[in-house]
Amino acid sequence: MKPVLKLKNEEIGLYLEITDGLLNIIKDLGLKHYPKEFGGVLVGYYSIDKKTVNIIDTLLPVSYKSSKIHFERGSEGLKEQLIELFNAEQPLIYLGEWHIHPDARPLPSGTDVEGITEIAKHKDVNITSPILLIVGLTTTEMELGFYVYFKNKIYKYETY
Ligand SMILES: [Zn+2]
Repeated sequence: MKPVLKLKNEEIGLYLEITDGLLNIIKDLGLKHYPKEFGGVLVGYYSIDKKTVNIIDTLLPVSYKSSKIHFERGSEGLKEQLIELFNAEQPLIYLGEWHIHPDARPLPSGTDVEGITEIAKHKDVNITSPILLIVGLTTTEMELGFYVYFKNKIYKYETY
């Protein structure tokens, strides 16, 4: 068994699981681009009862704009990559987004909330409750903030 971080939101009864391996990959990517923001797409699958989201991997943007306080990924090639993952032996789907907050706490900014709301309402994205992972990162520390957009509100996941 791979080490897994488990989180939940009691209020809406949703669960989330992500491997330490993927979190390490995300941390390394953040440090590589530090002190600028960086990010990507989260892919994985839902449990049969749809209550638990399993984050398995990340897709990285081919093009993006970033600064110390801003990140915007391009969507070039993403659709093709997602189709390929969906058709794999173990299908993975789009689950949401992650990005780094260099030298800042992992709290969603106004732009972050707008972004995830837009994704939830986008007709091309077949997901109504996208996940948002924000990683507060310094050269020595990492703080994770996991959020989910659910019925027009943003909820935070807590470890348990
Ligand atoms: Zn942000």
